Amino acid sequence: MTYTIEKVATLIGARRYGEKDATIGWLLTDSRSLCFPEQTLFFALRTKRNDGHKYISELYRRGVRSFVVEQVPEDYQAQFADANFLKVPSPLAALQRLAERHRDEFDIPVVGITGSNGKTWVKEWLYQILSPSMKVTRSPKSYNSQIGVPLSVWLLNEQTKVALLEAGISEPGEMLALHDIIQPTIGVLTSLGSAHQENFRNMDEKCMEKLQLFRNTETMIYPSDDDTVSRCVRRSQYQGDRIGWSRFNDKAPMYVKTEGSHVSYVYKGIEGSYDIPFIDEASIENSITCATVALTLGLTPEELAERMPKLEPIAMRLEVKEGQRGLTLINDSYNSDVNSLDIALDFMNRRPEQEGKRKTLILSDIYQTGESSAELYREVSELIAKRGIDRFVGIGPEISSQAAQIEIGQKWFFANVDDFVQSSVFKSMRDEIVLLKGARPFGFERISDLLEQKVHETILEVDLNAVVDNLNYYRSFLKPETKMVCMIKADAYGAGAVEIAKTLQDHRVDYLAVAVADEGVTLRKAGITQNIIVMNPEMSSFKTLFDYDLEPEVYSFRLMNALVKAARHEGITGWPVHIKLDTGMHRLGFDPKKDIDELIDSLKHQSAIIPRSVFSHFVGSDSDDFDNFSATQFRVFDEASQKIQGAFSHKILRHIDNSAGIEHFPERQLDMCRLGLGLYGVDPRTNNILSTVSTLKTTILQLRRVPKEETVGYSRKGKLERDSVIAAIPIGYADGLNRKLGNRHCYCLVNGQKAEYVGNICMDVALIDVTDIQCEEGDSVEIFGKNLPVTVLSDVLETIPYEVLTSVSNRVKRVYFQD
Ligand SMILES: *Cc1c(COP(=O)(O)O)cnc(C)c1O
Repeated sequence: MTYTIEKVATLIGARRYGEKDATIGWLLTDSRSLCFPEQTLFFALRTKRNDGHKYISELYRRGVRSFVVEQVPEDYQAQFADANFLKVPSPLAALQRLAERHRDEFDIPVVGITGSNGKTWVKEWLYQILSPSMKVTRSPKSYNSQIGVPLSVWLLNEQTKVALLEAGISEPGEMLALHDIIQPTIGVLTSLGSAHQENFRNMDEKCMEKLQLFRNTETMIYPSDDDTVSRCVRRSQYQGDRIGWSRFNDKAPMYVKTEGSHVSYVYKGIEGSYDIPFIDEASIENSITCATVALTLGLTPEELAERMPKLEPIAMRLEVKEGQRGLTLINDSYNSDVNSLDIALDFMNRRPEQEGKRKTLILSDIYQTGESSAELYREVSELIAKRGIDRFVGIGPEISSQAAQIEIGQKWFFANVDDFVQSSVFKSMRDEIVLLKGARPFGFERISDLLEQKVHETILEVDLNAVVDNLNYYRSFLKPETKMVCMIKADAYGAGAVEIAKTLQDHRVDYLAVAVADEGVTLRKAGITQNIIVMNPEMSSFKTLFDYDLEPEVYSFRLMNALVKAARHEGITGWPVHIKLDTGMHRLGFDPKKDIDELIDSLKHQSAIIPRSVFSHFVGSDSDDFDNFSATQFRVFDEASQKIQGAFSHKILRHIDNSAGIEHFPERQLDMCRLGLGLYGVDPRTNNILSTVSTLKTTILQLRRVPKEETVGYSRKGKLERDSVIAAIPIGYADGLNRKLGNRHCYCLVNGQKAEYVGNICMDVALIDVTDIQCEEGDSVEIFGKNLPVTVLSDVLETIPYEVLTSVSNRVKRVYFQD
């Protein structure tokens, strides 16, 4: 469905500048997702940290001609010929308004899904259950915010028979806006948990806020066994049909009984039952919510019973893995429709690795659409052309029969995965970024297993979204113009410098800082273009600094003189350096009391290097006990750094706040701050976890019963008090698991339960007590991370979380996740 630009201007009440005709089919809020420039309408949103108006020139250059703005560029007729600017007081409000008007065009069931957990899960499962019967339009990924919801609603079109839309809120007052855009006819509350609780007074307040989505719906579906939910539903004076599902109340409109993964139910007098291929509690509950919605939408118990066992697990995030031969693998084997193909292609184009690499798509037959094959694969062909795919591999009988529809220079087709992995095409793949998108039955796991670098059973899982959350948390203390250095020394506090740097570069931090030049070289070789500071430049590394565009810290006259000499030798002038002052740490740095005049003098009498910034480091910003000392440090720094700035006409950035300083002394943010531990999820002041970035995981190798008179491990240290079950896990002190955690000083988690380390921790293996835990060989074990804060370990070890994080050795494979 498209709209003319006049129509859009009227719908959002905009004043129009420019009179070129235009048709709008796509809405864009993030310039990186641009795909169809001619028909795109860009909304220049202003957020706390960014301003969409900055991207207008770039987008114009890339072909976009329609913009919704708060401010029309001054000389728009000259600079942006043929463009239309729609001026409104708030582009975000205009986006929401347009979506609302678009929604008005449809008289179909619209399912609005909210809840603390499981929204995306329920939405995706419902899609799997409903799509064989009807054309379903759903929110992409987890687009459920004030921006994501309007973009989702925009996807409704003439074919849509039912819409599934998520609504997520983090603050009071947000749901009403979402309600007006979605205008649901069926409201679904998945569950009520503690997410975003900090912004609400209590659970009731949050629940009442969520229920706002259900005003005016014909039907509401909710878990009535949850007391808070039931109470709030009663209080809400809701007028429509209340379908609370319950396991206890046989009068409930949806009464269920569960036994393992078998669910039987009575829905408004209709009896039925189904099985799902999962056994965990969350899956069972989400399946009940889905079943209730499906029955409400008119599916029969027979249809449910047939489709439920085929439910597929939901990949909330696309997996990115390093492959052999310079390959980067993106795995998306969970959905197989065109819409999700487009999302995955977009994700691929946003990956920093893609620069300079060929882009390959490996695609299986696509299931679950009503379209004819020819039409479907023509659509695929168009998409891959727009998204700039270089090489295409089709796997499956149907896609092979439609080979002619796929118009691309390099293409190959195979009947199945076996044929492909034996082909020369497979064997010659190298230095490519590869998107694997296959429907389940094709077994694309085989391809990724063969191409992936072999992993140890012990991995450090790194959540890149959490890194961004933490970055934004610290940014929220800063003025928009304050710059940020992110510390990625020590391999990004153990998380892996390259991936972390790519993520940070994507989020436009101003500087990255590493410890030594070689770390900087690794980043440059991986394509990082951001400015990089080297904190400990060795005398032998100057040439490397110049070759790889790295900016050294300078902390002494000896280092400075050697650097100047080396730069002159290379004919270099104006190389940026960062001057460190020692205000109390007494580690490295110039002395503010004695050295400043001489420092200024030396800097002025040469032209090889130029001070880009001057900084110092707090000794104790993480503890209130040192507040007086910190104040003195700041005063000394302020005075000395002003003096240096005063001697030069160019701007010299001044910085002193680290993670703890940003939170504790935001008034001392000066021009720039240096974020370290906080970025990796630990608040250095409280030791609280922000968003968990790193999770160290392993698996149970072997289980054995050991009678109580026996012992476990070296030197017979593991004494037992009862007959026990002992699990061996493949992680030892050589992986960074400290020996002091052994002999029951600490524990790990097996299926969510605490399992103590028994006996001495060995070099490559540890032994844990799982006597009271239901588990099997192959089960996953968490050493620290999402469910077991790293600070539990650092407290036992009487050290700081920094040490535990940076001790995870290099042989532990880092695996990255991102939305
Ligand atoms: C490591 C480091 C930081 C970051 O410290 P956190 O406590 O991790 O925030 C800041 N500045 C300098 C000079 C550092 O070496």
